[in-house]
Amino acid sequence: MTAVSVGVDVGGTKILAVLLDDLGRVLAEARHATPPGEDAPGVVVADAVAVALGDLAEVAGSGFADLPVGIGVPGMLSRDGTLVFAPNLQSASGADLATVMTERLGRRVELTNDADAAAVAEHRLGAARGIDEFVMVTLGTGIGGGVISEGRLVRGAHGFAGEIGHLVIDTSGPRCPCGKRGCWERYASGAGVARLAREAATAGRLRALVEQLGDAEAVRGEDVTHAAAAGDREALAVLEEVGWWLALGLSNLAAVLDPACFVLGGGLAEASAQLLPSTRRHLTGLLEAGELRPVIPVVAAELGYQAGAIGAGLLAASS
Ligand SMILES: [Zn+2]
Repeated sequence: MTAVSVGVDVGGTKILAVLLDDLGRVLAEARHATPPGEDAPGVVVADAVAVALGDLAEVAGSGFADLPVGIGVPGMLSRDGTLVFAPNLQSASGADLATVMTERLGRRVELTNDADAAAVAEHRLGAARGIDEFVMVTLGTGIGGGVISEGRLVRGAHGFAGEIGHLVIDTSGPRCPCGKRGCWERYASGAGVARLAREAATAGRLRALVEQLGDAEAVRGEDVTHAAAAGDREALAVLEEVGWWLALGLSNLAAVLDPACFVLGGGLAEASAQLLPSTRRHLTGLLEAGELRPVIPVVAAELGYQAGAIGAGLLAASS
């Protein structure tokens, strides 16, 4: 096997590193938990990435030290490699990551936003092959976004394009970790499902689930997706509501970008077969002139949990 690059996806809870061949196929992977840390910003994350790369080095053998390395991180990454703001990766928020990583790993790295990396991977190898205008929406704890236009990643003037989870859709809505109120990701992410489910439970709905868990406050997002998959009508109603909020944000993105399609990835999209149909149903009604314009397909991502790491590796290989 011939490895040509290494991709790393640094998430809030785990770090995934993959070894890629020249077609972007995954030859090997290494996973580690993201450690909490209160040292200088970025240091514990760089240490954990170094351990993951050490695992891959054993598989790859000689030549590993010369492979380009791409690293995807959540949050607002500036064009010069500073992670300006990362509420979902507190230990690295504010870090000059380009410097910290280069010093710790002893090699230059190509840094990118994690959802941007996923967009690149889905464009090259996944659900958006051959589609040069689309938006990647990653539904995890929050919502990440990557915009591809004219076949290229849109980074924006400062590198911050695609922070779509923090589109404000209700100024009197719940507080977001970013400090604002009513951000889209408070409604349509894994955390959003849990919040809407707790609201439903407190209002006397989701009775079977609350009975099973013993407490309305204990309902988590995955409890709802599991119950919905088992046919619980009240859980399905919650996902129907989440689908409406998801479609609302997509309709706003369509007003700006007019994409050929939306690609939905991340843990919530994978866990919930019910979410895409309800989102598609609501989107046409929420789009401007929805009955007059071409349908904008909402499709599932194809590369699963590896998308971000693969995209980071592809970007490193082409830089
Ligand atoms: Zn926010």
